[in-house]
Amino acid sequence: MRIWLKELGIQLNGLWGKIEMEDDFKTPLMAFSTVIGCVNNCSYCPQKTLIHNYFKRTDVKKMSFGNFKIILAKLPRNVRVDFSGMAEPFLNKDCAKMIEYTNDKGFQMILCTTLIGMRNEDYERICDIPFGLTYIHLPDNDGNTNMKVDGDYLRILDRVAKNPLKNCTFTYYGSLHKKIIPILKKNNITALKFPLYNRAGNVSHIKSKIKSRGKLVLCKNSKYLNHNDVYPDGSVGFCNADYGQRHTLGNLLTASYTSLFKGEEFKRIRKAFKNGAKGTLCYDCDGCIGVYSKENLINNTKKIVRKTGLTKYIKRVMTSFGIKIK
Ligand code: SF4
Ligand code: SF4
Repeated sequence: MRIWLKELGIQLNGLWGKIEMEDDFKTPLMAFSTVIGCVNNCSYCPQKTLIHNYFKRTDVKKMSFGNFKIILAKLPRNVRVDFSGMAEPFLNKDCAKMIEYTNDKGFQMILCTTLIGMRNEDYERICDIPFGLTYIHLPDNDGNTNMKVDGDYLRILDRVAKNPLKNCTFTYYGSLHKKIIPILKKNNITALKFPLYNRAGNVSHIKSKIKSRGKLVLCKNSKYLNHNDVYPDGSVGFCNADYGQRHTLGNLLTASYTSLFKGEEFKRIRKAFKNGAKGTLCYDCDGCIGVYSKENLINNTKKIVRKTGLTKYIKRVMTSFGIKIK
């Protein structure tokens, strides 16, 4: 029996039984890093760590369109394709072509972009693509998101602000860059401020949000640990926070998608979750431990009870069981 606890963002099977995520979190995902080495060098994005570790393995910097097609052909149709990864996707000149091709193949897609590298012709090609979500990351005054705010950038931002891509959300960290505020105002756009995380311990100057460690029981992104990243050389990383390249699951240029989840590395991580994810990247994941450790789940429920009162809480639980109380 399921109890929907909206505030916790999860479903519980039975009172403290098996935890199940929303359907969204069951959807497998592959995020494409179309290049390695992002010119934006945002302060919260450990590019140096990534470059140092990725190029130990390979010298392939950009994903070719040919290899992109080979990799995409390996993905089951229910895998959502994200153009995000560990670099601005449009730094690869074939990005718009890749997006069109992915759409033609019938995949669901998400795009996260700073617009850097997006040319007018790219915008024309993708403006009608039915992205499930598009995130436009905006520059700020605080040195967080660090793209060059010059004439070219302001022109493409103005274009996208006038006619946003499908399901578009504009986001930023800190305070919005002064030069872009008139463009947003003119187009009635309210940008959303996001919190910064230290990407599973990979960004030393951002304080971890882990207050009490507890035992991590679940990844907030995916129930089955299948929100993965593919890099230009075809190798697949475990998570988009794995800038240190600690967990490589396999290579989609040479192996199948299912083999990624049958290999020793995946099995090792899965097993580690039985012990709070010790010995893996996830052990330091401040985005997940804050909510999805056993102890935090209990604490959060206690907080809700304190906030709403026990009677209201019980009513809500009963309602989620389909039992109406007058
Ligand atoms: S956050 Fe995005 S845009 Fe900024 S450096 Fe990292 S990959 Fe590039
Ligand atoms: S590091 Fe965090 S987001 Fe990434 S797989 Fe582990 S728990 Fe999930």
